[in-house]
Amino acid sequence: MIEKTGIVDTLEERQPYITRKQEKGQTVPLACDNTSLAGAISQRACVYSGARVVLNPVTDAVHLVHGPIGCAAYTWDIRGAKSSGVETNRSSFSTDMKEIDVVFGGEKKLLNAINELVELYHPPVVFVYSTCIVGIIGDDLEAICKTASAKHNIQVIPIKSEGFKGNKSDGYKAACDALKQLIKRPQAGKATEKKPETNREIAKPGIRKPKINILGDFNVAGDVWLIKPLFEQMGIEVIVSMTGDSTAKSISRAAEADLNLVQCSGSMTYLAKWMQQEYGIPYLTISFFGIEDLSLTLRKTAEYFGSEEIKKKAEEILETETNRIMPEISRVRERVNGKKAAIYMGGPAKALTLIKGFSELGMEVVIIGTQTGKKEDYEQISYSVRDGTVIVDDANPLELAELLVKQQADLMVAGVKERFIAYKLGIAFCDFNHDRVVEFEGFDGFVNFAREVDASINSPVWKAVSQRILRPEAAESVKLKKQKDAGMEDVAMEDTGMEDVAIEDTGMEDADMEDAAIEPKLFNLKTDTAVESEA
Ligand code: SF4
Repeated sequence: MIEKTGIVDTLEERQPYITRKQEKGQTVPLACDNTSLAGAISQRACVYSGARVVLNPVTDAVHLVHGPIGCAAYTWDIRGAKSSGVETNRSSFSTDMKEIDVVFGGEKKLLNAINELVELYHPPVVFVYSTCIVGIIGDDLEAICKTASAKHNIQVIPIKSEGFKGNKSDGYKAACDALKQLIKRPQAGKATEKKPETNREIAKPGIRKPKINILGDFNVAGDVWLIKPLFEQMGIEVIVSMTGDSTAKSISRAAEADLNLVQCSGSMTYLAKWMQQEYGIPYLTISFFGIEDLSLTLRKTAEYFGSEEIKKKAEEILETETNRIMPEISRVRERVNGKKAAIYMGGPAKALTLIKGFSELGMEVVIIGTQTGKKEDYEQISYSVRDGTVIVDDANPLELAELLVKQQADLMVAGVKERFIAYKLGIAFCDFNHDRVVEFEGFDGFVNFAREVDASINSPVWKAVSQRILRPEAAESVKLKKQKDAGMEDVAMEDTGMEDVAIEDTGMEDADMEDAAIEPKLFNLKTDTAVESEA
């Protein structure tokens, strides 16, 4: 039985989705992995968006959205994924369905759009995404894609991603089903349909180079380009990163790998399991973020192949690179040590690795949440955070805002939809998802992350924000609850502890405030709304 925790003032049905780590080792009785509560204004995106974020980094594919223009505009260039070759994926294509298409059907329009795009771009593959309205009117995507595929002799793959069909996780699965169709069975002699113990033999000198795939790295800001060279130095070939900087051809070779490294477990474990079953390729769950997790990844990979030469090379890389970046990490650590971080991620893998990253910077995690975490993910999160940390599933903007204030976070790390929740409360923010422009993975990526955290937390702009104010109704509710708990009719505001959650001294009286170039009152927050969300 999951009990109400009352940590934030929210809908009663949402209470079981918010809990606090109580004592060391205790697992979290947290409700999760459910459909979002109607009216709760979840931060989760739709099925279509989930499919789009996974597939969009396939660089040479045409990504055609069958639906109204809004669905395509909403996800244009969604990943910020870099390409080392063509950039067909950076254009967003839509059939731009209108009322007449909804009434009479959009199949003809779709076929015409595919024909036109193939003639213009000559792509090796076209992904056709279905959206809500297509699910409602029942256009036969499979039949149209089959016809177009036969006509152009390329793969035209329908993605069954009607937005209302489930949540973002269902979109990940739809994307993986599309990737499955691109992966070709290896030719004789290249097949890796071997047991894991047989794979260990291939790393021995004189046999052949071990080969891996990276699953769940989207090359945001060029992350993969900091990772691939590490494996190359270890004598390991990376066949493809799915899907960052991938092409239809590189994906088609994925089944030649000896091992899959799964970073974004939420989106790619399904594909990894399928490849294990279909081609006998085992997988390891890893992370390329932070010194500890990156070291673990290189060591686990070397250990898997069992070659002393590879293990030695991994240790050399770790020693050289760690020594190179540690002076800068130590410098930043001194500036952010003891600060409090809030993490809100789409998937649990990033949330978990961030806990270690913050620990390496001497920071404490006070809030951690995800949009799509499962019971076992939250148990792992619970074991990894300190007592008192709030753990939340599928949060909405008002809950996040209240938590940020109550937990006195100094920094929020999340995605674009959460940015303004933090800014409006005068709290530093770091984008870990699609909109960042510097790499966060690998050794240099961790230095970039540390510098960004430092720059955001220690920015002089926060001295110009005089108050952290919760929405008035939440503040009122906290006051009433305290009165009720105390059995008092009339409790003075000062006695309710409201000052703890509503107003924080930000050092405005400091002499340096006088030096601020901008009139401080311009930054005073309005009290009518503390947060808003983007589409
Ligand atoms: S919910 Fe439906 S209409 Fe909205 S973006 Fe997703 S697919 Fe498009």
